Order: sequence, then structure tokens, then C-alpha cells
Amino acid sequence: MRCVLATSNSHKRDEIAAIFEEMQVRGVSFESLACYPDITPAIEDGATFAENARIKALHVSRATGGWALTDDSGLAVDALDGRPGVHSARYGGEGTTDAHKIELLLEELADVPMRDRTARFVCHMVLAHGESVQAEAEGVCDGVIAAEPAGSQGFGYDPIVYIPELGATVGQLSADGKNAISHRARAARGLAPALRRFIDGDA
Ligand code: IMP
Repeated sequence: MRCVLATSNSHKRDEIAAIFEEMQVRGVSFESLACYPDITPAIEDGATFAENARIKALHVSRATGGWALTDDSGLAVDALDGRPGVHSARYGGEGTTDAHKIELLLEELADVPMRDRTARFVCHMVLAHGESVQAEAEGVCDGVIAAEPAGSQGFGYDPIVYIPELGATVGQLSADGKNAISHRARAARGLAPALRRFIDGDA
């Protein structure tokens, strides 16, 4: 089964491929969007991670007529009423660096005490074929926004999301360590049974 991994974020692509590899989901070859230069980016105007993930997956599966898998993900901070949420990639404006987004977020939370800095990474993953969504799953990873960044692994907001049970930020975890607890890995585990059924042709 050939499936377009429909994200232009290379970190997310690598993580998703590694997660399915680690789960020994065999028989699917993930293609990059780079193989389809004519597919323009989808307009992510949904109000939720689920809506945006469906928009992105269907945009690609309709264009190719085949399988597409994508995720929409981001960071929801309780003290900011769930922001940056679906706007995580564009927080602070189009094209802001990860370091700048982190700086902005820490500034916004400057007066918020540690006990109120709860947050979660959310990932909604969608598998689509042609005109329809075939399977979807959501994963969450709870943490606390640290006072300052720590660690240089991962990407995005990883250096400021502290996982109390691990005593480390996500940015301090190895790739395997992140995949053991991440929102993306949890969504992928939810989606894997359906993906396996489609690979086997049973569905
Ligand atoms: P999307 O490509 O619209 O789903 O944007 C997701 C954005 O949320 C990314 O650009 C990151 O800023 C943030 N994000 C999502 N997942 C992660 C993660 O695993 N670690 C750190 N930041 C993440």
C-alpha cells in the first residue's frame, strides 16, 4: 500500500514514519508530498485539530485518488484558554522561528505561577482515501510550561513542555523517549489497527 504522508513538516514526517516502524506496521510505503509538487498547500481554516487534519488529508487524497495520512497538532495552554492551539504553527505570525514562538509564549506566561501552567500537546491523525476519511484518532500528551527552555531534541515547543513524571522537557528526551509518550505516538497507536486492516485488504 502506498500512502502519502501529507505534511511538509519534516520533523513530523520522520516521527510518524518511526512510530509506525516501531509498531511494526509493515506493508505500507510512505511517500513524501515532495513527490507531488503540483499539490498546493491545503487551506487550514478549521476550528479544531480534527477539522484541520481532515481538510489536509482529504486535500491530498482527492488530488492523488489514493491514500493520504496526515496529522494536525499543536500546543494548548490552559492559562491561555487553549491557545496557541490550532494556530501553533503560526503563533506570532507567518514564518516565526521556533525560538521566537517559545519566547512569545514564555512572555505571555511570565506572571502565571507554575501550578497554573498546565498544557497539552494534541495530535489528530487522519487516514483518507480518495473522497473519504477512512480512519482517525487523537492523542494527547499532558505537561507543564517550563520557566525556560531546556533540551535541543525534537522540534517546535518541545523544549518548554515539561513532563513531571519524567522530570524532563520533551526537548530533553531521545527520539524513542518522545515516541513513548507523545501525542503523535498515541494518535498513531489509535490509528494503527485500521491502517493494518487496510494494508491487509480486510477492510
Ligand atoms: P501543523 O503542521 O499545522 O499541525 O502545526 C503544528 C505546530 O504545532 C508545529 O509547527 C509546532 O509548532 C507545534 N507542534 C506540534 N507537534 C509538536 C511536537 O511534537 N513538538 C513540538 N511542537 C509541536
